[in-house]
Amino acid sequence: MHTCVSCGAQYEGNFCPKCGERRITSADRTVLAFLRRAFEEVTDVDSRLIRTFKQLVRRPGALTRAFAEGRRKPFLGPVQLFLLANLAYFLIQPLSSFTGYNTPLDSQLERQVYSEKLPVADWVAAATSSAGLDDTTFEVVYNNQSELLARSLLVIMVPILALWLAVIAVGRGKPFVDHVVFALHFYAFDLIVVHCLVLMVWPYIVIGAATALQALIGTPYWLNPAANFLLEGGASLLITVPYLFFAYRRFYGMGALVAMALAFVSLFALQLITVTYRLLLLLVSLATV
Ligand SMILES: [Zn+2]
Repeated sequence: MHTCVSCGAQYEGNFCPKCGERRITSADRTVLAFLRRAFEEVTDVDSRLIRTFKQLVRRPGALTRAFAEGRRKPFLGPVQLFLLANLAYFLIQPLSSFTGYNTPLDSQLERQVYSEKLPVADWVAAATSSAGLDDTTFEVVYNNQSELLARSLLVIMVPILALWLAVIAVGRGKPFVDHVVFALHFYAFDLIVVHCLVLMVWPYIVIGAATALQALIGTPYWLNPAANFLLEGGASLLITVPYLFFAYRRFYGMGALVAMALAFVSLFALQLITVTYRLLLLLVSLATV
């Protein structure tokens, strides 16, 4: 029997069953053993990361299911994964031609569904004069503030999506925390795959295809609207809908038709969640700039 040096429990063998502490022998206290262990730890983080990413991309809903069933050791936790995706997104996003989740002032003023319906221009004018800045300087200061806030505000989309999931999965016997975990995994996928990987190359594919078609058959009347539609919504239709379809089936055990219908309807819910997030980002940025 040994006494654990960390928690004081009595045990046999090399690991404490209560806290997981490993028993150290004199053979462990060499530089070589130290380096070997350090290498194991580093490569283990790595293999967990790769394993988690593969599951996230290849098997929608599998990570959520593993987490709910208690198979948690092999993968990164949902919050850890979400934060990592958030970090990757804000590093890579400036390279993309899409504004994405960070919404600069010109986009807030002109390109949002609420830009015209709410007195956004008046709010901005009021904030500009109370800050005592001219329009150009205010825009720079605002955009910095908005970019900073966007990173932490992104997380508010998670509980809203969880509420939506609770509505569509009502009667399936899942506790609310399951919907939260599903939402964390979904946004991790959305940030890494849709916003980092796909939107980086997507515009070039669409524009390239449209240009090639134009060279072949002249400019057909449907080409511009079709290219615009593909630029805006194509990635969502081709990636988000199938992702949700498989995830709804795998995690919530929905039938194919129900999962398909709900995956399409969820696009509108996601759009609404993004709009809510952008409006909140505008209000908080204006209030704190
Ligand atoms: Zn212990």
